[in-house]
Amino acid sequence: MLAVDCNKYRVTAQKAIRDPVLQNALTNFQNLLGKGGAEAIRELPEGPQLRLKGHAIRKKAIAHLDILLETLAANIRKNGGHVFFASDATAAVNYCIKVAQRHQVRLVVKGKSMVTEEIGLNRALSAVGIETVETDLGEYIIQLANENPSHIIAPAIHKTREQVGRLFTEKLNIPYTNNPSALTMAARKVLRTKFLAADMGISGCNLACAATGHITTVSNEGNIRMATTLPRVTMAFMGMERVAATLTDHHTLLRLLTRAAAAQKMAGYISYIGGPASSEQADGPEAFHLVILDNGRSRILADKTFREILYCVRCAACLNVCPVYGKIGGHAYGSPYSGPIGAVVTPLLAGINRAHHLCQGETLCGACRQACPVDINIPRMLLALRSKLAQGDPAGNTKPKQHAILGSDPRHVCEGLTNCMSFITGPSRTRDIEGVMVFGAHGPREVYLFVITGDIISDDLNF
Ligand code: SF4
Repeated sequence: MLAVDCNKYRVTAQKAIRDPVLQNALTNFQNLLGKGGAEAIRELPEGPQLRLKGHAIRKKAIAHLDILLETLAANIRKNGGHVFFASDATAAVNYCIKVAQRHQVRLVVKGKSMVTEEIGLNRALSAVGIETVETDLGEYIIQLANENPSHIIAPAIHKTREQVGRLFTEKLNIPYTNNPSALTMAARKVLRTKFLAADMGISGCNLACAATGHITTVSNEGNIRMATTLPRVTMAFMGMERVAATLTDHHTLLRLLTRAAAAQKMAGYISYIGGPASSEQADGPEAFHLVILDNGRSRILADKTFREILYCVRCAACLNVCPVYGKIGGHAYGSPYSGPIGAVVTPLLAGINRAHHLCQGETLCGACRQACPVDINIPRMLLALRSKLAQGDPAGNTKPKQHAILGSDPRHVCEGLTNCMSFITGPSRTRDIEGVMVFGAHGPREVYLFVITGDIISDDLNF
């Protein structure tokens, strides 16, 4: 199960809204990447309808996921690599530790990977005495600051260059500067020594190709290429949904991904890795392992209402246009997956009741669907999650949320509730297309009336 901390959603969101520095950073970021990504998709030679082709490719891949994963695993093994199917986070972490200890690994360099955030890999490795260093600049910054990523592809977007300057002075012992080039060079100098000394490289996987038996990583810093080729051992982690059938499908999805993610026709570094280095190759790892993670994804796959969320290629375009993410930032979501994609996938992986704030906090404006390079209907799934919260779902282990109203005399209550925007008079009801009254998608299924016989003090009402 995904480890999340969604209880502080409201408090963290309120804090973010009151932080002018963060608000400025989020606005600038969305103006740059939200608009840029949409423009890059519009400029595709095939036009924006390539998104529909991307959707069809993902739909077909998810419909044949079992065959594609078997083919991928068989082809990687044929190339001399190892494949491990991890049912949950514990299995994935234990496999990684076992391999690392077998190879006497003391230092790991990592490329950015949200799946390893999902399973808490860094913490687990350091608990057994293995030093783990993030090499993506944003991830390196938040690792030094001991924070969590606040965006899927721009993990340190919440930090200003002044904050990074002070952090580097404190942690790297360099003179203070807020110059981005100087800060980047300082990080590069430290990371070069780590790359050269590392025993093991760990990466994520943007997409895998079943037919050729390789995984692909996408970056703009070149760090993943170094992390996966310099150390003796390489291990990649992928969610089980991240596979395409053929290289042609893979190519279409990569073009959509890089445009939507960073407004680029193609990223700076695209690496294809299919196994350890062969005897004819001068460089490359001696051993290659691929961990394919389930961790709740099979449950989503089996549910036809939510299966579509597995089409996601984690480009983060939906975060870059979301008005809610643009105000509260990523930390309020309490999960590695924030924004609209996080508002759907986090409740599905961690439990709908546990993460209910996330799907209830989004506006249903539809901007996420318009920005999505594979046309995922996120608003539909947000509504379906809210419906489960309203009505409960024994199959999904979801309890209906209960609502209450207070008062013995409505006039009394009204006097105290100056902020009250609406009154609840009963369970949510609406007419279906045949005119039959049914429970609505949003409102409570049951309403309780507590009759208070004493005086009501408006200050005590905590709404
Ligand atoms: S839901 Fe669509 S836009 Fe959002 S991260 Fe996934 S692929 Fe990208």
